[in-house]
Amino acid sequence: MKTAIITATGEQFPIGKIVCLARNYAEHARELGNETPAAPVLFMKPSSSVIDDGEAVQIPAFSRECHYEVELAVLIGKRARNVAAAEAMECVAGYGVAIDMTLRDVQNQLKAKGLPWETAKGFDTSCPLSTFVPAATVPDPHALSLKLRVNGDVRQDGSSADMIHRVPQIIAHVSGIFTLEPGDVILTGTPAGVGRVESGDTMEAEIAGVGRLSIAVRQG
Ligand code: MG
Repeated sequence: MKTAIITATGEQFPIGKIVCLARNYAEHARELGNETPAAPVLFMKPSSSVIDDGEAVQIPAFSRECHYEVELAVLIGKRARNVAAAEAMECVAGYGVAIDMTLRDVQNQLKAKGLPWETAKGFDTSCPLSTFVPAATVPDPHALSLKLRVNGDVRQDGSSADMIHRVPQIIAHVSGIFTLEPGDVILTGTPAGVGRVESGDTMEAEIAGVGRLSIAVRQG
């Protein structure tokens, strides 16, 4: 069982489902040749995919193209079913940093066949996740700088201001499909600049005021 920790308060939540948005930043949707969707595009990662700061992503032997995607992670602290956007922020316990590791070669094969993405998105170690800061310490989750460096070079440098669907709308939408429970995590999508990492690389992901991750990469 993986645990989400709000460091400042010591609160701990067993991690439940991890609901992820695809194509929630227009420029990133364009860089992969995808249309910008009207409704959020959702997929899930199992909690078994989570690794902590300082651990390593293991690229499975069946992939040769593993991409990073830095994302703002929203930790749910209160049960939410069909919640309205106006009340949605009451359900947020904290914010953290995630990297949505993606086997792009596998995902492209699955997309071409119209098949689900879980193999490309939910493999073991595919969800590096930081500790969380209390929601109250982040006055505006849509004014955050997101950065990802590989071996010290900045590859992603975006702002959560560019999200298409914002946190309250995301929670309202998702909670109309899946009941959200304490310990569930939402990954809110990635800005442009995604790319490949290889065995031996080190990724540093950072969201100012929220947290950071340092994650090594190994080829399985
Ligand atoms: Mg993503």
